[in-house]
This record gives sequence, C-alpha cells and structure tokens, in this order.
Amino acid sequence: MIKQLPRRQRIRRGVILTTFILFPIIMNYFSPYVIIDGASQGIINGSFIVFGLMFLAALFLGRAWCGWVCPAGGLQEAATGINNGPFKTGKRDWIKWGIWLPWIGIIAAVAISAGGYRRVDFFHLTESGVSVAEPMQYITYLLVVGVFLLLAVLMGRRASCHTICWMAPFMILGRALRNLAAWPSLRLVASASSCRDCLKCTSNCPMSLDVHGMVQRERMEHRECILCGTCVDNCAQDAIRFSFSAGK
Ligand code: SF4
Ligand code: SF4
Repeated sequence: MIKQLPRRQRIRRGVILTTFILFPIIMNYFSPYVIIDGASQGIINGSFIVFGLMFLAALFLGRAWCGWVCPAGGLQEAATGINNGPFKTGKRDWIKWGIWLPWIGIIAAVAISAGGYRRVDFFHLTESGVSVAEPMQYITYLLVVGVFLLLAVLMGRRASCHTICWMAPFMILGRALRNLAAWPSLRLVASASSCRDCLKCTSNCPMSLDVHGMVQRERMEHRECILCGTCVDNCAQDAIRFSFSAGK
C-alpha cells in the first residue's frame, strides 16, 4: 500500500512541483548568468531582485523558500522516486560557497567596470515573458535540469541544495544575520522529553539532517534546514513544532 503523505506535505510537494513545471517560464529569474549580463549593462534585472528578496525573506523565514517554493527543490524531490537515499552532509555542504563567492565577485567586478547600476529592468533578456523561448535557452534549461537531476540520482536527496545551489547562500547569510540579531522568525522547536526515538524525523528529512540528534539537544537551528516541516508532520509524538519566535 502506498503511504499517504501528511496533508501539509502534500500541499508543499504540490507547490514545489508546480514551480518546477513552470521552470521554462521563470528560469531567468533565478539565473546566475542573466544577473551578470544585467550587471555588464548597469541593469538591475529579475534575478538580482529575486536573489535580494530571498535574502530579505530569510531574515524572517529562514530557508523556507527552498522547502516550499524552489523549482529545483521540486525537481529533486521528484527524483527521490529514483534515489531516496540520504545525502552525506558535512564538508560537501561547503562546495556551494566555492561557487557562490567567485560568482558574487564576478557580478561586482562587472557592475563596477560598467559604471554601476543605472536602471531596473525586471524582464531583462526575458522580453517575451518566457525564459525558454529560443534554442539556446532550451539547451540551458536542459543542462540545468540535467545537472540537478544527475546529482540527486547519484548523491541522494537534494544533493544540489547541499553542493551547487547558488541561491542557498543568500538565505544562509540572511538566517545567520537573523540569529545574530535574535529577532523573532520562523523556526523549529523541539521537546526531547516527548521523543520516543523512532528516528522517523531523521529518515524522512529531505536534507538528510540528523534531526533526532537535533531534537535530543533541543537545538533545531541548522544552516541546511529548509523548514519544510517533514519532521514536524512525521513525528507522532509532536516532539517537533513550528514556532515564530526568537530562539536558538
Ligand atoms: S519522529 Fe519524533 S519521536 Fe521519532 S525520533 Fe523524531 S522527534 Fe523523536
Ligand atoms: S530538519 Fe525538518 S524542517 Fe528541516 S529540512 Fe529536515 S525535515 Fe525539513
């Protein structure tokens, strides 16, 4: 018998699968290339604005974007039908910073050599409103989807979120700033005394985190947690819950 997902998780999966289906339309608003092209012409483009909003949202919602909206998240969770094995977290989580830092440096250098930003054009390089409208864009689309799919199949659940995602660092930084300021925001809280050590939270976590260990320490903050709520919805003891509060 196929196990039914909890209702909240069905909604979440439905949203991220929908954004993945819409990816050919919206791809440019997450593009690491279009933002560089915009910078070379002094244009604040769609992906510049979207990345900025990701950072701002993370100040109050952590990485909820990754768990609830991201089209690449939808693709990778669909790939669990092929490989639902856990990703080995740890040192490999730092790979994305080796991509993000030089990329941000390139954007800054290109913008400076262009004389700075002078105008805003959300639809820069997406004048038709559709990101995949020409053969070259179609090839780009297939390459992006292919890489995310391949890593998920070879390395396990949401491997690209851990390793190559150029968007995740914006939210990790936003959340780090939130933690420094200690203002109220969306987070997980846990009660170790309610836990019955069934390990369902750990085995179901899309980011392959040691959720049970986090519960035992009653310290749920983790830079790779995407606040998807899978652990919350799989805990029969209600040992984990969402909270909008200032905490650890
Ligand atoms: S799912 Fe709940 S009861 Fe089971 S190990 Fe996790 S926190 Fe404990
Ligand atoms: S710890 Fe819970 S909320 Fe965070 S990624 Fe894992 S399952 Fe999702």
